[in-house]
Amino acid sequence: MLTIGLTGGVGSGKSTVTQLFASLGVPVIDADELARQLVEKGQAAYYQIIDKFGQQILAEDGEINRRKLRELIFTSANNRIALESILHPLIRREIQQHIQQIDAPYCIVAIPLLIETGQANIVERILVVNAPKEAQINRTVNRDAVTPAEVEAIVAAQVGNDLRLSIADDVLQNDGELADIFPKVKALHAKYLSLAGVEVPIEPGESVKDVAESAITEQKPKVAISAPPPEITLPESKQSMQSSSVQLLADKNHNIYELPLNEKMRTFIRLEFLFSEVEHFLAGSTIWDLRSAVNALIATLSVVCRPEIKTDLMKELDRINANLAKFDSKSGVNSGVLSDLRDDLTSKSRSLRNMEGQLGQGLKQNELVSALRQRESIPGGALAMDMPSYAHWLNQSYAQCVADIQTWLASFTLVKEAVDLILSLIRGSVVAHDVVAKAGFYQLTLDPDVANQIVRVILPKNADCFPEISGGRHRFTVRFLRPNGFERPVQVEDDVTFKLICCAL
Ligand code: ADP
Repeated sequence: MLTIGLTGGVGSGKSTVTQLFASLGVPVIDADELARQLVEKGQAAYYQIIDKFGQQILAEDGEINRRKLRELIFTSANNRIALESILHPLIRREIQQHIQQIDAPYCIVAIPLLIETGQANIVERILVVNAPKEAQINRTVNRDAVTPAEVEAIVAAQVGNDLRLSIADDVLQNDGELADIFPKVKALHAKYLSLAGVEVPIEPGESVKDVAESAITEQKPKVAISAPPPEITLPESKQSMQSSSVQLLADKNHNIYELPLNEKMRTFIRLEFLFSEVEHFLAGSTIWDLRSAVNALIATLSVVCRPEIKTDLMKELDRINANLAKFDSKSGVNSGVLSDLRDDLTSKSRSLRNMEGQLGQGLKQNELVSALRQRESIPGGALAMDMPSYAHWLNQSYAQCVADIQTWLASFTLVKEAVDLILSLIRGSVVAHDVVAKAGFYQLTLDPDVANQIVRVILPKNADCFPEISGGRHRFTVRFLRPNGFERPVQVEDDVTFKLICCAL
């Protein structure tokens, strides 16, 4: 049976769309409803929650006091993680059990926080109901007794619409009238039946293809593999790894710390950072921004012009391309997107091969840039008293300076695109796990047969510690340290729960 995960931001119209699918006889599994049932007296999560938060969490009738629970998790990230680690595996199991019991061509699994709770990989397709933020706010204000500011806070706590759309297979754009929704649902229904191998009923005079095309935006996910293939999942280390495995995406509430597991990745991550730095300052408006953009460009040039970079990029593009070829016939993989991606990898590798000479060669020969490079290591070495030519260049119109930097930057476009593609694929095709660092220490031996590239440790922004990650291809360790005034940081003594991603492709 085909499983469709339905998600969307608050007020986007998820419940409305879900009800319309149900009205067409499609079985619906509602994750929020399952969560509500799980915390009821005597149910699976009930005792675990009392164990964790104590009797204070109970209302007079012995039921869990939801308001108190909400307060506890809003005021402490540790509490939220603790509750999530109780609920998410149970919800996941319930959803899987419900799916087993359904006898239908396809079902809808409505999971409002599909991305935030890392449930993306339990469904085969993702349908995002999307609406402009203003509509989300107006509709929610009209539906619930809440203020626009309260809805804005909810929207801010959820992942952004862009992120949600980037992982969608289908998008139902709910930016019109209520009456516009049903035809879109019917078109999706026809599409899902057809994907499930059922002959599609077409109403007289109506072409399903036409309706579907006009009503649905087919999304091409940035990462081709919607179901992570087994060889790139993390090796299980039973004692330290909890069962909740999540497809995790960065958001504004978390910090990501990375350890590249080889020199190539280290260089690519450094380049990615430098390109962002140039772009950031280029969007500024003062002479200091211009100077900073030029400094970042010169630092980028010193990395790009290393002789091995071109070959490393080509090899990496070719290696990933060869690995992706293995997913060609796997179920759960969108073959159209996969082939587009492989074409992109091939064309970038070919373009790099066709580039004459060393990367960055032209820019190295630029008189001004080369003079600036020579003074790079002298603090304050690009002052007007030392470099009148630079001061003169900075004196032209701001737009001209920006245009010059953009021209210089353009010679790196291919390198930047190749780095972005490589890193987005490597970072994207992974599974994250909730793990516990006992007394602030965690170690994992990596499977030598898996092409591990980057280790990512994800902590809530308000965590009072940070990870020090060290290691290499075969094993790595994470030590959590707490700042200690101006003294050397100390290792935390408590257990630290964090999300771990081993990116492998
Ligand atoms: P969600 O479940 O995503 O929070 P709902 O489906 O409950 O959103 O929709 C929020 C409110 O907006 C509901 O009262 C619904 O009737 C209304 N609504 C949904 N879509 C539209 C639309 N296109 N035009 C007007 N109102 C809408």
